[in-house]
Amino acid sequence: MPAGGAIVGQTFLSAGLGNFPVARPRFRRGTGTTREGGPAVFGTGKCRQPAGWKARTTHAFTLIELLVVISIIGILSALLLPTLSRAKEKGRSISCLSNIRQLEMALQMYAGDHEDHAPPRSFPTLWTSRLYPYFGDMTLLHCPSDDHDSRRSYIINGWNDYFERMLSADEFEEFKRFQWPQGMKLSAVPLPTETITFGEKQTGSPHAYMDFVQGVKGNDLEELEHARHSARPNRRAGSSNFAFTDGSARSLGFGKSITPVNLWAITDKWRNAPPVPLENIP
Ligand SMILES: [Zn+2]
Repeated sequence: MPAGGAIVGQTFLSAGLGNFPVARPRFRRGTGTTREGGPAVFGTGKCRQPAGWKARTTHAFTLIELLVVISIIGILSALLLPTLSRAKEKGRSISCLSNIRQLEMALQMYAGDHEDHAPPRSFPTLWTSRLYPYFGDMTLLHCPSDDHDSRRSYIINGWNDYFERMLSADEFEEFKRFQWPQGMKLSAVPLPTETITFGEKQTGSPHAYMDFVQGVKGNDLEELEHARHSARPNRRAGSSNFAFTDGSARSLGFGKSITPVNLWAITDKWRNAPPVPLENIP
């Protein structure tokens, strides 16, 4: 480097990886003044530096330094992204729980206006239509973690075991054809704090009622979503949200709504059926 002269476009061979501009004093060819106000001539190689004057230089990163910075950013991202993802999913689960709690409030209000009865298990008029005047916002029917574009993520208890016990065989056949006019009387539920009214159904499932008597194994095994809010891909660590007959709502871990006690049932026969092994739950 020429002492005291202008340096224009000088390069350093850095770490054997290429030429990188690293130092470029802010001199311009021409005339000017020194910081002390004296005349200075630049670009001639005869510029006089006043005492105490220092050339202003900028320092660019070498490639090695850039690679280190990029690596650190990558490591920090890898550490933070799963945490952010879990926080995001937690937020969605809280929003879902709020939805299902508001549906439960609508059910309680509906029952208050219908001599304590839940909506009848009817089709094609579903519980959503009957409760709509009480919850009033269709977006409440969709869980934020449900990827499907269907408008309804939730399923209501069909109370099959209760009506199977209470109705005659012919009446129960009528019930199974969605033609029984009476809904479940909520005050007839013996354990309201431990009996589910609403849960989450599998993505895309068309079912509206959680029926033990439908399908091959029953809707509790075939249609319920047991890990909507999961630490993917480990479904066993996931959970889903549920509302209960006493008006409360809470999250239950994978399979906990149907085993070891089936919280959708009312009768001992169905509540305390042999526990379903977790590996049998989808
Ligand atoms: Zn949900």
